[in-house]
Amino acid sequence: MSTIERIAVVGSGTMGNGIAHVCALHGRDVRLVDVSREVLDDALVTIGTNLDRQVKKGVLESDERNAVLARIGTFTDMDEAVTDAQLVVEAVPEKAELKHRIFASLEELAPDDAILASNTSSISITEIAGRMRSPGRVIGMHFMNPVPVMRLVEVIRGLATDDGTAEAVMALARDLEKEPVEVHDFPGFVSNRVLMPMINEAIFALMEGVADEEAIDKVMTMGMNHPMGPLKLADLIGLDTCLSILEVLHRELGDDRYRPCPLLRKYVAAGWLGRKSGRGFHLYD
Ligand code: NAD
Repeated sequence: MSTIERIAVVGSGTMGNGIAHVCALHGRDVRLVDVSREVLDDALVTIGTNLDRQVKKGVLESDERNAVLARIGTFTDMDEAVTDAQLVVEAVPEKAELKHRIFASLEELAPDDAILASNTSSISITEIAGRMRSPGRVIGMHFMNPVPVMRLVEVIRGLATDDGTAEAVMALARDLEKEPVEVHDFPGFVSNRVLMPMINEAIFALMEGVADEEAIDKVMTMGMNHPMGPLKLADLIGLDTCLSILEVLHRELGDDRYRPCPLLRKYVAAGWLGRKSGRGFHLYD
């Protein structure tokens, strides 16, 4: 298969704007889709700020910054955005019904040979693909947060994913200077199957008064050499996203060890979603 040059990204939030950033940085023509112009404008501001940071760090030449931004088009109309895409990466919120709806539209709107990837953290790729006429072109492309910084892309093969689809996505990930790791489709894959129980347990420890937020994070950073404590990491991921992932793990694996902590539910109900809302287990500007 020829290299992937035209990429549409559906959803311009925490992950979508990072995926668009990295693809444009590596010369791809990117079309970013979201529900409103306002959200898309915010995404472009975020990408611009993150590019500035890369210029300051010497990762990017200052005269390349605007060229990278110019490679990202923004769209509220999915039809226009995906019409000649070779790859679509879906990065809408972690809600199965929403993702199924998006993939049904993509099947109608994107070219028949386009690869359709989901950045889902936990939802079954096999099930998304199972509803499609051509499940072989569906795959999980799980970037990590923050996308411009983190090296890993967890590539998830659904039961029916074609070899060609997997090979093309692995090759693209390497072109983006990422390290792709192929895993099988199982709830939470590897990353969140292992990470979320730790975050959930940290929230239980907070709820039970074992220690406060700072102390819990410090034990894990200074004692376990984690670069970030679990509560700060949960804030970075988004507490709504953490809750959705835990609900998938709990339901799909049927094991109570994945039951979401009631304190997590409470924070999400209050709209305390972490960094993106300014408040989670910690406070943000
Ligand atoms: P987010 O809430 O920050 O962004 C989601 C975006 O999708 C929003 O801008 C929203 O307006 C947009 N959206 C909603 N409905 C849409 C529609 N119908 N069409 C187009 N856009 C729509 O969420 P996020 O954290 O970026 O997560 C996106 C996906 O990536 C989820 O599946 C999540 O599990 C996964 N993921 C998240 C992280 C993380 O750390 N946040 C890491 C890896 C994977």
